Amino acid sequence: MNGLEGRGAVVTGGGRGIGRAVAEALSAAGAAVVVAARSEAELEETAAALRARGGDAHAVACDVTDEAAVGRLAEAAVERLGEVDILVNNAGASFAQPLHRLTLEQWHDALAVNATGPFLCTRVFLPAMVERGRGRVVTVASVAGLTGGPYIAAYAAAKHAAVGFVRAVAAEVAGRGVTVNAVCPGYVDTDMTRSSIRRIVEKTGRTEDEARAAILEHSPQGRLISAEEVAHAVTFLCSEGARGINGEALVVDGGELRR
Ligand code: NAP
Repeated sequence: MNGLEGRGAVVTGGGRGIGRAVAEALSAAGAAVVVAARSEAELEETAAALRARGGDAHAVACDVTDEAAVGRLAEAAVERLGEVDILVNNAGASFAQPLHRLTLEQWHDALAVNATGPFLCTRVFLPAMVERGRGRVVTVASVAGLTGGPYIAAYAAAKHAAVGFVRAVAAEVAGRGVTVNAVCPGYVDTDMTRSSIRRIVEKTGRTEDEARAAILEHSPQGRLISAEEVAHAVTFLCSEGARGINGEALVVDGGELRR
C-alpha cells in the first residue's frame, strides 16, 4: 500500500494494542519490523504472527526508560534489519490520579515511559537516518499532549513533553530527508482504555456500561478509535508521500478537540 519494501522499522510497545497494529500495518506495507517492549511472550507472539503472513519480523525485549537497554535494542535492531529507517515511539502508559494523590514516583514514571522513552529511542536511531538522508520518526502521543483534563496531570504533562520534543527535533532535522511527527489519538479500543473503564467503575461505583458511556461522551462520533485507524495514520506518516509533513501532531480523535 505505502511502498515500505526494503525499509527497516522499530516499533516500541509493539506487542499489543496500538503498537501491534502499527507493526502489522508497517509489515503489510513491506517493511521489516522489530517489535520492542518488556513482555517477551507478547513480542514473540506478534513477530510470529507477522512472519506467518509472510513478513520479516523480530522480537527484542527492551524497557524504553532504560538507557542501556535502548542501546542494546539499537544494536539488535541493526543486526536484524540492517538499517533502521522508521522508528515508532509507541510505548506508553496512562496514569489517572487526582493531583493531591499523585505521588512523585507516579509523576516520574509517567514522564519516564511517555517522554524519556521517545527521547532515548529517537536519540539512538536518528543520527544514522540523518546520515543516510532518509528516515521517519513517529511518536504516538495523545490528545492529552495537546490539551488537559481532570486526573491526568502526569500523563498530560508527559505527553505534552513528547509533542514538544517532536516539534523541536523536527526543526533540528528539517531538510535532511528525515521527518519527525506525532500522532495524537483520542480514546482507542485497547487494554489501556479497558483499564480506564475498570478504574472508573472502581472509583465511582458506576456500572461498566455507564463508565464506557462516560468515555464515549468524549467523542463527537460516539465511539472508540480503533488501533488500526491509528496504525493507518502512522503508516501514512512513514510513507514517501508524507515527506512534506514534519513537526506535525496529527490528531485521530473523531473530532473531540475541534468541537
Ligand atoms: P497498551 O495496550 O497498554 O500497550 C502499551 C504498550 O507499551 C505495551 O506493548 C507495553 O508493553 C509497552 N510499554 C509500556 N511501558 C513500557 C516500557 N517501559 N518499555 C517498553 N515498552 C513499554 O496501550 P495502547 O493503548 O496500545 O497505547 C499505546 C500508546 O498509545 C501509548 O503511548 C499511549 O499513551 C498512547 N495512547 C493510547 C490511547 C488509548 O486510548 N488507548 C489514547 C491516546 C494515546 P510492556 O508492558 O510489555 O512493556
